[in-house]
Amino acid sequence: MEIDRAWSENYFVTKANIIHKRVHTPNNGRMIRNKKIYTSVPVYNDMPQYRLYGVLDSIEINENDNVSKKRRVCIVEYKPTMPKGKLFREDDLMQVFAQKICADYVFECDCIGEIYYADAKKRIKLPLTENYSEYDSQLKKILEEMRGYLRKGEDPKINANQKCGGCSMRDLCMPKVVKKSSVRLEIETIERMENEKTSEYCICDK
Ligand code: SF4
Repeated sequence: MEIDRAWSENYFVTKANIIHKRVHTPNNGRMIRNKKIYTSVPVYNDMPQYRLYGVLDSIEINENDNVSKKRRVCIVEYKPTMPKGKLFREDDLMQVFAQKICADYVFECDCIGEIYYADAKKRIKLPLTENYSEYDSQLKKILEEMRGYLRKGEDPKINANQKCGGCSMRDLCMPKVVKKSSVRLEIETIERMENEKTSEYCICDK
């Protein structure tokens, strides 16, 4: 999406859009059992090592939590389906960790993060504060790699164990057919071949 300006939707994207409708409405704040709940909350962190921004599905603020007896801020990320055999996907966890980096920066807190699975109607707490240093190093490494790819205009290589079953980009990405080249390189190759053809015709016409 960022490098080749390519985007595509499928059943799963549409389903996720419908599920997110509730939390993609700003100014929909409400109060439930001592908790202030805000949806579609823009956040950012402009520290040089992060430079991130985004919009949180939902954030809950409990000024006087029964357990901790202090202000408790919780990010809630909505996902349509719970993964089989585990509580969360690693990519989703890293997404919520990046949200925490932004929310902590903006609201000056040490927030926790949860994922709400719409199919199971279940909320799962993520171990964000427990494994903070590990996830922080991982996030910085990922950001560095992503910015490297963006600078070079190159698509990252596909992981050997990448699961592409439900991906809306499958028809454009063709993970089984085109293994290494990027769409941009393909277009450049086609353009070059077309130009070569045109110049051959020009010579013949003369
Ligand atoms: S590699 Fe697979 S999951 Fe990644 S964009 Fe291509 S089709 Fe989608």
